[in-house]
Formats: sequence, structure tokens, C-alpha cells
Amino acid sequence: MTILKKKKIYIGFRNFHFVHYYLQLQLELKEFYILSAHASGHCASPEAIKRLKESKSRVLWACGSPAHKMPLINPSSCLVLIFVAAARAGVTDWSYTGPHGPNHWHLDFPHCAGMTQSPININTGDVLYNKALKPFDLAEYSKTKQITMHLVNKGGHTAEVEYTGDQIRLRGGNLPDIYILSQFHFHWGSASRRGSEHTLDGQHYPMELHLVHYQSHLGSINNALDQPSGLAVLGYFFKIGEHNDNFDQLLKYFPQIKESDQHVVIPTFPLLDLLPTPTVNYFRYDGSLTTPPCHESVIWSLSTQPIEVAEEQMEAFRGLYDSTNHSLVDDFRPLQPLNERTVQVSHRDFSTEDTGSYVTSSAATISLFTLLSLWASKNV
Ligand SMILES: [Zn+2]
Repeated sequence: MTILKKKKIYIGFRNFHFVHYYLQLQLELKEFYILSAHASGHCASPEAIKRLKESKSRVLWACGSPAHKMPLINPSSCLVLIFVAAARAGVTDWSYTGPHGPNHWHLDFPHCAGMTQSPININTGDVLYNKALKPFDLAEYSKTKQITMHLVNKGGHTAEVEYTGDQIRLRGGNLPDIYILSQFHFHWGSASRRGSEHTLDGQHYPMELHLVHYQSHLGSINNALDQPSGLAVLGYFFKIGEHNDNFDQLLKYFPQIKESDQHVVIPTFPLLDLLPTPTVNYFRYDGSLTTPPCHESVIWSLSTQPIEVAEEQMEAFRGLYDSTNHSLVDDFRPLQPLNERTVQVSHRDFSTEDTGSYVTSSAATISLFTLLSLWASKNV
């Protein structure tokens, strides 16, 4: 998941001096905005925000509460925040290759070296059936009224659709709360033999879709990022097959987001259109964001049924550019150790056939071999 954009950082300070502070750093302009907010999470008044944005000052701060007409913290505290922000400013750049690549993420983002990181390989021979993993209720994925979809080339890291307007709620799936859809995005390869973040019995898929939700009582995605079980991500693998007309509702706008940070509002369509069926059988484990800052706050659910698209539709993704004007491809993090975790599955009769055929016949042979091995081992 992509949380940080290259030139814009949002940092939340919770329960600091009894209020929340949000810093918006516009690195390119070397301007720092500090907005104070009440515990409710509401930002400073629109007038205050407007004043900040219109100002040409290099360093700006606004620490008052319009409701109280008095500062909630003193200016020196603000300066501390500015220095914290400045210190963070140098470490926000990350990429999938080179000196800021995944092997170095932990230097700037310590959570990336945690013990419950994502993605992982799912060894189907080791998954445990859990009858408590009930079906998801995806009814609200068909909503379109009062909902706006923003398609964005997110920092040159992914193609993402962000939602505003009416909430789309995810229920069921043995989640601890109702979760609100915030955005969905993709990870894909330069060729169809790789691209997914998670693997199944060591096999990559050409692409992986992540539907990112936050726990409803936390109020926003930013509040939820670092909270235990704050996020629920529903993931889908892709396989190459027939042309998927439903995806054209999205792909026909990709020429408008070719460059990093380009965005366009697209006609709203039901999210359910993109999914293979309204029911989901899934793998479940606890993990993390797969991009910095790698917070270990994600309840992962990975569908056992893939989405089918045609090879030429993959080219729409590979035609995007990253922030250095190179092709935006291979935006997946390397596999992370499972450590002490177990992966559960929602239905007893799971078999790898549910995830569909692989891209190459040799991979399919490996998959069949795995199945036969499993069968054999259970019958010895
Ligand atoms: Zn993701």
C-alpha cells in the first residue's frame, strides 16, 4: 500500500498536549503547514487552512483553536514539531530499487524490520481451516450514488482509486469492527510471470489488487494506520485469460495518469464489477503495510479466487511512469518471513485449483505436482 507521496507527507501526532496535530509538508516548496485539531479529528477552521495555503512564508504554523480562540499549545511546541517534520523530510523517499529500495527501507522506517511484515508466501500445505472465518458482506461494493472515484498515479508507486463521498462499508469476515473502504490499488510486474506481492506455494501472479479499509470507529485512514487491526485489506490475485470488459471502466482513463501524481475523477462504477464473484473464500493472517512506513496494523484477507484479465490489459498498467519517468513496473515488495504466524483459510475444502491457472504451463505443472504431493503425504 502506498501511504507516503514523494513530495507530500502527512504525519499525525496523537494525544500530544491533549490535541492532535497534523503536519503537511510541501517539500518541493520547503513550506511546512501545521494544523491543530481537536480529539475528534476535525482540522482547524477552513479559514485557517485557506490562510496557510495562501501565505508565501517558508515556515508556517497555526496552533490555535477557532472554537476556543486561544492557542492550545505554545509556539515553542510548534517549533519542536517543525524540527521533527524537517528531520522526517529527508527520509521520505523510497522506491522498489536502488539505494532507497526495500532492503534499505528499515533504515528510515524502522517498522519495516518488524516481525509481522507483509507480503508473505502462503504455503497451502500449512494453512489452517478456521470455521469462524465467515463470508464477507460486500453488498455496499455495489454502491455508486454520492460516491466519487479519484484515479491517481500515486507518487509513481501505483495506480490507485481513492474514494470520497458516501462511505462504503465492509462487514463480516470475522473482522473486529465494520471497516470503511478508503482506496484500492495494484501491484504488477514488467512481465506476467511476476507482479503480485503475496505468493501461493512460491508462485507469483501477474498482479495483485488491494482494497484498503480502516476500522470505522477510528474515523479516518490516517488515524488507523498505526493502530492494531486498524486496517483490513482484501487482496485479489490476477491471472491472464479473457478480456475483462469491466476493467475497461478503469483502464480507459490510464492515459490521463501516465505521470507520477497525475489524477483524474472518473465516472463512478460499482466496485463489485471488478471482482470475480460477490462471495469470497480467503486466506487470513496478520501483517503490515507493504510500503513504508510498514506499520503492522493490517488484517489481511486474500481471495482464493483470482480476477481474470487479458494480457493486453496488463499493458495499460505497464504504460504508466514512476517519479523518475521510468516505466512503473515491478512495484511489489520482496517476501517477508512468516516467523511465528499461521495463515488460516475460510473454507475446509480449499484447494489450489480455486486460485485458477498460472500463466505458464510449467508453473501449472508445479502446481499440480504440489497438489499430488499433498495428496500423497496425507495418504501415507
Ligand atoms: Zn498494496
